[in-house]
Parts: sequence; C-alpha cells; structure tokens
Amino acid sequence: MDGRRCRCGNVGCLEAYVGAEAMLERYAEAGGDPLPADQETALAHLVLAASAPGTTAARVVDETVRYLGASLGGLINLLAPERIILGGWAGLLLGDRYLGELREAAARHSLRHLFASTAIELCRLGPDAVALGAATLPLERFLDG
Ligand SMILES: [Zn+2]
Repeated sequence: MDGRRCRCGNVGCLEAYVGAEAMLERYAEAGGDPLPADQETALAHLVLAASAPGTTAARVVDETVRYLGASLGGLINLLAPERIILGGWAGLLLGDRYLGELREAAARHSLRHLFASTAIELCRLGPDAVALGAATLPLERFLDG
C-alpha cells in the first residue's frame, strides 16, 4: 500500500522494489557510492559490493532478497506451483549469488507444506529466455498448422 512508484504507473508493484532499475534507485536514495551508468554493469557492481557486510549495498540487496522472497512465498501460498523459475538478466545476477537466501525468505513467507513441494530454480536458458520463449510462439503455430 502506498509504496514506491513503479514504471508501469502504479504504486507498490514488486518491480518497484526488486527490478534492476528499482534496486539501483534504492541504492542511490540510500546514499550508496556512484555506480557505472550502464544498468547491467551497475547492478553487477552493486551485487558484488553487497558481499561486504554492513554496507549500503549489502542492505539494499538484503532488502531486495527479502522482498522478492516474501513475494515468492505469496505466490507459493496462492498458486502452489511445482516450480518457480527465476530468470532475466537481473534475476540471474541476483539469483546466482543469493538463491539460497531467496529460498529461505520464500520459506519464511509461505505455508510449510506448499513450500516443500515447490522448487525455486534459476532459468537455464540464459538472460534471453523471454525472447526465446516469444520466438517459439510462431513456430508452435506453424507446427500446429
Ligand atoms: Zn508496476
């Protein structure tokens, strides 16, 4: 409720907290050191800097992991999925280092029996998985025809 403004125009969306742009904005707002202008390079720097405990980077990344984990817990409670795949370049960057913490946060925010039957994994298709998935749609239609 009444959360951060999201790029979609609404307020309080998850992306307004855990998206790459949002993470970098939250880091800047918290007084973090300047980062490279390129978003992917900046986020890589932020995640790397977060390995130093007690830093602004560590706080922002820890919050991000908790927010994302809590949202995954909500999804697990609502949908009881067999598997949640974390993808996208930012998701892979964060998940590569923090998948265990994300799973722990999701476990804290979901019903135990539902969490136990849900796998949370990183996408194996790389950062272009969305484009690959979209590319399969016309191919699927062609094969169905
Ligand atoms: Zn939004």
